[in-house]
Amino acid sequence: MQIPLIDLTKQYMNLKDSIDKVMIRVAESSQYISGPEVKSFELELADYLGCKHAISCGNGTDALAISLKALGIGAGDEVITSPFTFFATAEAISIVGATPVFVDVDPGTYNLNPSLIEKKINKKTKAIMPVHIFGQPADMEPIVDLAEKYGLYIVEDACQAIGAEYHGVKAGTIGDIGCFSFFPTKNLGAFGDGGLIVTNNDEIASIVRGLKAHGSGHAGLLAYKSLNQGLVDSDVLNGLNDQSAKYYNYLVGYNSRLDEIQAAILRIKLKYLDRWNDARRGLASNYNKKLKETSLVLPEVLRNLKEVVHLYVLQTENRKDLVEFLNNKGISTGVYYPVPLHLQKVYEHLNYSIGDFPVSEYLSNRTLALPLYPEMSEVEQNYIIECIQKFESE
Ligand SMILES: *Cc1c(COP(=O)(O)O)cnc(C)c1O
Repeated sequence: MQIPLIDLTKQYMNLKDSIDKVMIRVAESSQYISGPEVKSFELELADYLGCKHAISCGNGTDALAISLKALGIGAGDEVITSPFTFFATAEAISIVGATPVFVDVDPGTYNLNPSLIEKKINKKTKAIMPVHIFGQPADMEPIVDLAEKYGLYIVEDACQAIGAEYHGVKAGTIGDIGCFSFFPTKNLGAFGDGGLIVTNNDEIASIVRGLKAHGSGHAGLLAYKSLNQGLVDSDVLNGLNDQSAKYYNYLVGYNSRLDEIQAAILRIKLKYLDRWNDARRGLASNYNKKLKETSLVLPEVLRNLKEVVHLYVLQTENRKDLVEFLNNKGISTGVYYPVPLHLQKVYEHLNYSIGDFPVSEYLSNRTLALPLYPEMSEVEQNYIIECIQKFESE
């Protein structure tokens, strides 16, 4: 039996009729950007997540960078985050000119360990960027307390956690800004790239809207005013509609858009997201139950959380052998993440060394993701479990 880590074909085949129909509808409309699909998608996402503003953009990395820039974070500033994440988390901090400051993670949940954050806070610290890794929300309560105590922003990297909940609140809507990705393999995946920025703060929302569209027009002017204490004569745009105002620029921003065709596809998929996330949780709890007796260390989930199991990641002493054994049985696996970010070549200049974040380093050598996707059948999962049990008994 061949089992991929993630199966996007099954999902498409299940929704083929409705997805094909909207793709043709958008093609025939000849409105490919900034149209009705994107507008409706943003409203539906704000409603789904229970937040005031949902602003689409080109991808999750842009979402993170635009968010930091909207908060006025740049050169000379520090942002605290996890070294055990996808590179884009720290990359976004570097893109705006700030410095990522890493804090080690918890060995059971793989998320930022809140008790290690406070000693990294100094005058340069502007924000904390928790990552809801593998679909489980980070322990936000102590992080929110620290942010309040020291006057820091919280930007949530919720790229892997759409639909997850922390104490009944959707991940991504707890801090000042939340960022999502619609990369095809994410829980809500487009047919290409896409991203989203959410906030309950009107001023932040208008800055984000200005920054994502070249810092131009009415939104660009508002963004400029917010970031520069209102030092601009705004009369020039008076009476101009959005189309004409577009050629007046106030900030160096981004060109970061979600396309109409992606928004149309995502609107269809959004209707299934909760069902898919339920199926993911069901598969994860079945793995947990059936693999309990093995030597594998299974992922821990904190209480009062609803995780969305973006990836099912466990730990093993014999990763190399297990990967090879499963591979020979037709089962794909993945390693997330083989190199913690403080040891990446690109961050050599930050002068971290081996031993600085022992938990992240330990996990990098031991973690393994098993196949998991909402359409996975019982037969497929049982086959994977049986193969692992066979490996254990050899
Ligand atoms: C996917 C991902 C991103 C980046 O999203 P893109 O849409 O690929 O730019 C950022 N952070 C995390 C944790 C991710 O998993």
